[in-house]
Amino acid sequence: MNIDDFELIYKNNRKEIKNKTLIKTELSEFLGEKNVSIKNADLLAYTRDSSLIALNWTIQGKIAGLPDFITWPETKEQISKILKLANKEKIPVIPYSEGSGVVGGSIPIYGGIIIDMKKFNKILEINDKNLTVTAQTGINGMNLERYLNSKGYTSGHIPQSLYTSSLGGWIAHRAAGQFSTKYGKIEDIVMGMEVILPLGEIIKFKPIARAATGPQLDKMFIGGEGTLGIVTEATLKIWPYPEKRTLISYSFPTIEDSFNATREILRENVYPAVIRIYDVHETDRHFSEVENAKKRVMTVFVCEGNKKLVDVEEAITREMCEKNAGINCGTGPVEHWFETRFRVTETSTMSPYKLVYDTVEVASLWDRAARIYHSVVEATDRIKGNLLITAHVSHFYANGVGTYFTFGGVPPKGVSDLEFYQECWDSIIKAVLEAGGSIAHHHGIGINRAHWMKKEWGTAINVMKDIKKLLDPSNILNPGKIYEDIWKGGVE
Ligand SMILES: Cc1cc2nc3c(=O)[nH]c(=O)nc-3n(C[C@H](O)[C@H](O)[C@H](O)COP(=O)(O)OP(=O)(O)OC[C@H]3O[C@@H](n4cnc5c(N)ncnc54)[C@H](O)[C@@H]3O)c2cc1C
Repeated sequence: MNIDDFELIYKNNRKEIKNKTLIKTELSEFLGEKNVSIKNADLLAYTRDSSLIALNWTIQGKIAGLPDFITWPETKEQISKILKLANKEKIPVIPYSEGSGVVGGSIPIYGGIIIDMKKFNKILEINDKNLTVTAQTGINGMNLERYLNSKGYTSGHIPQSLYTSSLGGWIAHRAAGQFSTKYGKIEDIVMGMEVILPLGEIIKFKPIARAATGPQLDKMFIGGEGTLGIVTEATLKIWPYPEKRTLISYSFPTIEDSFNATREILRENVYPAVIRIYDVHETDRHFSEVENAKKRVMTVFVCEGNKKLVDVEEAITREMCEKNAGINCGTGPVEHWFETRFRVTETSTMSPYKLVYDTVEVASLWDRAARIYHSVVEATDRIKGNLLITAHVSHFYANGVGTYFTFGGVPPKGVSDLEFYQECWDSIIKAVLEAGGSIAHHHGIGINRAHWMKKEWGTAINVMKDIKKLLDPSNILNPGKIYEDIWKGGVE
């Protein structure tokens, strides 16, 4: 089969590169032959990320985007040279780490050069006194965490995609781990970074606990999604591996009761590492065997850290749950969660049945959390062909929450997978904005949410676009993400 036989989804955006042979020769000169490829098998491997719609396309023999060159640089100087060459030739460059992103962030919409970061996989230093680790950003998440665990530490950043994502991808998308209620999101964990700007300049933000050295420019590259620079190295906070872990679960009559209990726990300045509220549908899906949770809202907690503190956290957690009509469901549901927390087979079984399925995570303050949940369920229920809308709430702050919706259905006759997917996504985002929430909690913007950025940010998005132009005048670094509406006919 020839690569041209695959139907290309973003075909209208693709730009042909004329002097490909010369560019390949130039790339090979400074990267070495083994670190550049134009083989079809390699090009095909980088046509998509892990967006679930892309899995449907793969089954149908379609590809999302088609890159022209795959590169595996080993040094920051090599990355800088790729960027300088790309600017000279006006070729797009797409940073790519593990491809587990789910919003189209690493799809090469315009073609161009993929910079695969996997050779940036070294752990450079653990500093016990400062409680920091410095590592290259292509490192796989599980490799980093296992290494830390073997030395008696944890980063506290454990996303469901731990085995299939990297430090660089986490920083690019402002990721959140399952233990984020205690340890924070990645933006709370990163202390310093090295970044290569689109024109090839290498800059460094030294690690520091806190400072007052002008605006926090470094923060702009956290959530930059590979559009403002390529992050090559980062220093993270680490923690001693927890001495004690306590597992707690309660079921509540309604999601509002569970929100009240969890909010009141955090109000006491008590931060269980994990809190997860499952709506009645997800409770039924995951905990149907738990008698005390029938037709109720399951909520699981993990308190961890210093033994004496964990005991106090447990007491306060139980007090707030019982005050808000919680029924104790024991440790079983939390043990079940621990056993299944990296299992994602459910999602990949949908596409072969022609179901279009995805997850959308959003953020809100406490006073809007319940309204957002109900508005999204109502809006998504109205979509023709949609069969499923469920939610869990898995990231908690004293001031608000991150809520994670799952939808799935069969596009009605005459409606393409992508049209149906876009309708579901847009209905959810619209409902969230109308109810006063924020459009993304930890998966990022990529392609899927770019057309909502004006509504989310207001006129501030124009300032961001100006900054992008200043740093990347030829728009070579990951074009088509965050600032551009690739889903044509998008929402104003
Ligand atoms: C089953 C599953 C479970 C998931 N669970 C979670 C979860 O619990 N929490 C969560 O937050 N996310 C989760 N995700 C989403 C995904 O894992 C994250 O978005 C992750 O941060 C992406 O990392 P990656 O290394 O795979 O990045 P990629 O997918 O390779 O890239 C993502 C984006 O980052 C850019 N990028 C990559 N490396 C760099 C770099 N070094 N410098 C600058 N830009 C770069 C890319 O251009 C792209 O825009 C999940 C995804 C799947 C498929």
